[in-house]
Amino acid sequence: MRAWVRGRDPLLLVSAAHPMPEDVRPELTAADENWPQVLLERQAARLLVACVQAVGGRGQIVPVSGWRSREEQQQIWDDTMEKEGEAFTRQYVALPGCSEHQTGLAIDLSLAAPHIDFIRPDFPDTGVCRAFQEQAGKYGFILRYPAGKEHITGIAYEPWHFRYVGVPHGAIMTQLGLTLEEYLELMDGYPDGDRPFRFRMGEYQFGICRLPDDCPEEDLPRGEGGCQLSRDNRGGLIVTTWCREG
Ligand SMILES: [Zn+2]
Repeated sequence: MRAWVRGRDPLLLVSAAHPMPEDVRPELTAADENWPQVLLERQAARLLVACVQAVGGRGQIVPVSGWRSREEQQQIWDDTMEKEGEAFTRQYVALPGCSEHQTGLAIDLSLAAPHIDFIRPDFPDTGVCRAFQEQAGKYGFILRYPAGKEHITGIAYEPWHFRYVGVPHGAIMTQLGLTLEEYLELMDGYPDGDRPFRFRMGEYQFGICRLPDDCPEEDLPRGEGGCQLSRDNRGGLIVTTWCREG
C-alpha cells in the first residue's frame, strides 16, 4: 500500500451508501488546545484553528465533537434512540460505520454557552459563526449538510457540522454551491490527467482529475508545484496538482 493512502484522504465520502473503509486510520490530534478531548485529523485540526483565529472566534467557537470510533457512534445511536426515538435518531445521527466523524475529518461546532446540546449544537447564521461559515471554504472546510440538499446528502440540515475536504476543494465547492457528493460527481467528468478541471486560487493554478484508485503510480500526473492524492471511497482517486503563477 502506498504511504499516502493512510488517513490522509480528505475527499473520502462516508455516508449510508459508502461506509467507512476499514483501513483508514487517521493521525489524530486535539482539535483545539483548550478542548483536548475533541480529536481531529492533524491537517484538519491545523486549518480549523487557523480559520477560527482568522474570524476572531477563539473562545467563542467551541469544538463539540470530532473523531469518533465506530463504538462511540454506536453508543450515540443507542442513547439517542432511547431518549429521542427512531425518527429523530434517523434524521440526525448517522448509522454506526457510516458516520463522517469516523474519518477524523468532520467537526461539530457550537457557539460557546453554559449548556451545549451534543447532538444539535447551536451554530447560528449570525456574528462570528456566520463569519466562520463564510471563510471556511478557503481553509478547506465545507458546511457538509446544507439546507435544500437533504435529498443528496441523506442528512437533515446541520448548520453545526463542518467537514474538512482540503484546499482548494473547499473553496471550489463553496463557490459552486456543491455538496461533496456533487463535487465527486463533477470530477467523474475529468478522467484524463492531461485535461483536468482547472481552478485558480490566489497565485496558484490547480488541476484536478479523477483516476481509478488502483492507478499505477507512474501513470499519475505530476504538478510543477506539487501533487495531492485522495481516495473518494467510490473506487476513484482524486489527483490534485498545482503550480505557482506569477
Ligand atoms: Zn456532526
